[in-house]
Amino acid sequence: MNPFSLGGQVALVTGANTGIGQAIAVALSQAGADVIAAGRRDCGETLALMGQVSEKAGRGLRLDFSDPMAACDLFASERIDILVNNAGIIRRADAVDFSEADWDEVMDTNLKALFFTCQAFARAALPRGRGKIVNIASLLSFQGGIRVPSYTASKHGVAGLTKLMANEWAAGGLNVNAIAPGYIETNNTTALRADPDRSRAILDRIPAGRWGRPEDIGQTAVFLSAPASDYINGAVLNVDGGWLAR
Ligand code: NDP
Repeated sequence: MNPFSLGGQVALVTGANTGIGQAIAVALSQAGADVIAAGRRDCGETLALMGQVSEKAGRGLRLDFSDPMAACDLFASERIDILVNNAGIIRRADAVDFSEADWDEVMDTNLKALFFTCQAFARAALPRGRGKIVNIASLLSFQGGIRVPSYTASKHGVAGLTKLMANEWAAGGLNVNAIAPGYIETNNTTALRADPDRSRAILDRIPAGRWGRPEDIGQTAVFLSAPASDYINGAVLNVDGGWLAR
C-alpha cells in the first residue's frame, strides 16, 4: 500500500471554489480521493480542474457558513473520511475602530463553523475508529498581525482547538492537525500584494524568496490526510517558505 495514497477515501473540502481550498481539492483528487468540493458559490471550476488530474468526477456541494452550524447534518448520511476546514475570511481595521459586525462575522466563519463542523464529523467518524481532520490555520495563529483583530483571535483559536480535539479524539482513531500557510497568492492577499511597500517587506523576510502558491498547501493537505501521517496528532504545520524561522 502506498502510504501517500488516498484511494478509497472520501474527502470534503470547505471553501473549495477558489484559492487554497481549490488547490487542496485538486491535490486530494490527484492523490486518489473522491472529493466533495463545498462552497457557498458554485465549485464548477474546481470540479473541472479535478477532472484534469483524476478519473473520479468529484462532486460540488453548496455550503454557506453564514449559518455556522450549516454542516452539522452532513456527516450522518454518508461516510466521509477526510475533512478539510479551509473556508475563512479576513476583515481589516484599526483595533480602536474595529466593529462588532466584523468581529462576529470572522469569528463565526473561521472558528465557530470550524468547531461545529469538526464536532459533526467526529460524531460520525469516532464509531468507525478512523478519520482525518485538517484545519487551515495561519501565521496569525502564532503572531499578532496588525489591523486584523478578529482574524488573529480566530486563527489562534483554530490552533488551540486543533490541539484540544486531537487530545480528545486521537485515541478514537482520528487525526486532527492544522496547516499554517505563509503568504500565499490568493484573493485573501490581493490587497497586500497590490501595496508595493508591504509586498516588498513581506518578500524580503521569506527565506524561500517567493510567495507561496496554493499548490504548496494542497500537497501538505494530502500528507496530513494520508496514512503516512497516522502518528501526527495536534500539529500545526507551518508551510511558509521559512517565514517563522526568521
Ligand atoms: P480566498 O478568499 O481565496 O478563499 C476563502 C474561501 O472561503 C472561499 O472559498 C470563500 O468563498 C470561502 N468562504 C468565506 N466565507 C464563507 C462562508 N460564509 N461560507 C462558506 N465559504 C466561505 O482565500 P484563501 O484561499 O487565501 O483562504 C483559504 C484559507 O486559508 C482561509 O481560512 C484563510 O484564512 C487561510 N489562509 C490564507 C493565507 C493566504 O496567504 N492566502 C495565509 C494563511 C491562512 P467565496 O469565494 O464565496 O468568498
